Amino acid sequence: MDMPESVKKILTALETAGYEAWCVGGCVRDALLNRAPEDWDVTTSALPEETMAVFGERALPTGLKHGTVSVRDENGKLVEVTTYRVDGAYLDHRRPESVTFTRSIDEDLARRDFTINAMAVNLRGEFRDPFNGRDDLQKKVLRCVGDPDKRFQEDALRILRGMRFAAVLDLEEDHDTDAAMDRNRDLLKEIAPERIQVELTKLLCGTNAGWVLENHPTILGVFWPEILPMVGFDQRNHHHCYDVWQHSLKAMMSTPATPELRYAALLHDIGKPPTFTQDANGVGHFYGHANVSVELADAMLQRLKYPTAFRERVTRLIAWHDRSIPRTDKSIRRALQALGEQDLRLLLTLKRADNLAQAPAYHTRQQELTEAEQILTTILTTAPCFTLKHLAVTGHDLLHLGYTGPALGQALNHLLDLVIDGEVPNERGALLACLRRPPFS
Ligand code: ATP
Ligand code: MG
Repeated sequence: MDMPESVKKILTALETAGYEAWCVGGCVRDALLNRAPEDWDVTTSALPEETMAVFGERALPTGLKHGTVSVRDENGKLVEVTTYRVDGAYLDHRRPESVTFTRSIDEDLARRDFTINAMAVNLRGEFRDPFNGRDDLQKKVLRCVGDPDKRFQEDALRILRGMRFAAVLDLEEDHDTDAAMDRNRDLLKEIAPERIQVELTKLLCGTNAGWVLENHPTILGVFWPEILPMVGFDQRNHHHCYDVWQHSLKAMMSTPATPELRYAALLHDIGKPPTFTQDANGVGHFYGHANVSVELADAMLQRLKYPTAFRERVTRLIAWHDRSIPRTDKSIRRALQALGEQDLRLLLTLKRADNLAQAPAYHTRQQELTEAEQILTTILTTAPCFTLKHLAVTGHDLLHLGYTGPALGQALNHLLDLVIDGEVPNERGALLACLRRPPFS
């Protein structure tokens, strides 16, 4: 296994001082999968104060209570070095009351959540894998270390971590692990919303997220009960061949794996069940559903404490998802004016995904969206003018002509409207000429 040189040096320093030292957990798992590990964690038989002594000034006591010392490697990056430990009793379904240090690597591995996260490797490439994590990884199985009910009751966040690993690493949950996730789901109520948020975002961006959510809607329903009415909701409309939940998941998996798009796609139709009506022919309609989706999604994102800018972007995309954007210069300029380039591009991508999750007969709309994107690109590369800052005249010009106060702002916006509508070219002379005519003369 290819460990970075800087990490090898940390392991060497610990071994030279007479301790055992291993790379452990996520980095071993990721390296076996040929994925670049986010960080390399080290576990050692050295007690925290012994680790501090080995590394001197390079050691920072960042989590002594849990046995963690952060060591600055030769590149200035911090590597977490944690003493082998056994967790004490869990009283609040979140964290152990106490931790006890041990000199046995196998005891340390036994406290870890999943078999694929309970492997260690040392400088000589020796492997420690008492729960057959490597085997599970090869078979693409997610399995708890030990009794799943007990492990989820100790720390309920593991339920979401498990779903996240299944989604990101394309794993299938072992039968007992899967059943225990569902059985213990209500314990997630004890978990801080911020921690749920972090796991959920990673989960949604996983390549297998649609499958995982399709299997576990009730787990999501513990903190987001609003999603439950979508599950199995028959749309009774020829545009759709899936129920609202399946449609939302298909749309989500048709977007690129960026958080804004994944959340917007997952929640874009959440307002459908409460707005459902049927006409005389039995056809289903969802008038005004986008606005209801916005309200529900806004409250859901607030509950899990997403940053305001993120929440606003997601709800803006949801608000616009069902508006038609005709393929004309003028309408694309208007959309640019309202959304800006970045959000308009995201919106077109969302619309693409939404359409791909409809009945195949309607997939012809993909071509229309391509044309809208082409118009957008042409506008941006030739004559971008969709905000006042692009306008060929400025407030100064108007001041010189005697405009002041609100009249000045109105005049500028009027000129921008004329340019966006294609009635006047965005040229100084032409624009100033407009002002000499009523109503602004
Ligand atoms: P990633 O860093 O890719 O998000 P990871 O598996 O490295 O995933 P971390 O949170 O960095 O996750 O934790 C490092 C290791 O610590 C895990 O691989 C696992 O062995 C252990 N671990 C982390 N969180 C828990 C937990 N809630 N319960 C039990 N063990 C855990
Ligand atoms: Mg990690």
